[in-house]
Amino acid sequence: MIVEKATKKVKCDASGCNNKCDYVIINKRFVFDGNIYLCSNCISMLYGEISKFIVPKSIKPIYKKGGKE
Ligand SMILES: [Zn+2]
Repeated sequence: MIVEKATKKVKCDASGCNNKCDYVIINKRFVFDGNIYLCSNCISMLYGEISKFIVPKSIKPIYKKGGKE
């Protein structure tokens, strides 16, 4: 899973958000094969939520399995 700056301008995928996307989460490992487009506002909210559970320095080496993401 990688996150990149969005190159195409579509609507943010977060429900209830009408902003244009700024970032895209490219995901080829999940069952569905779809990109998730998020605006900078939503992705920072998402990051804030994730950081409640995952602190970057505590990421375990298991995430490195299978090459770079
Ligand atoms: Zn949004």
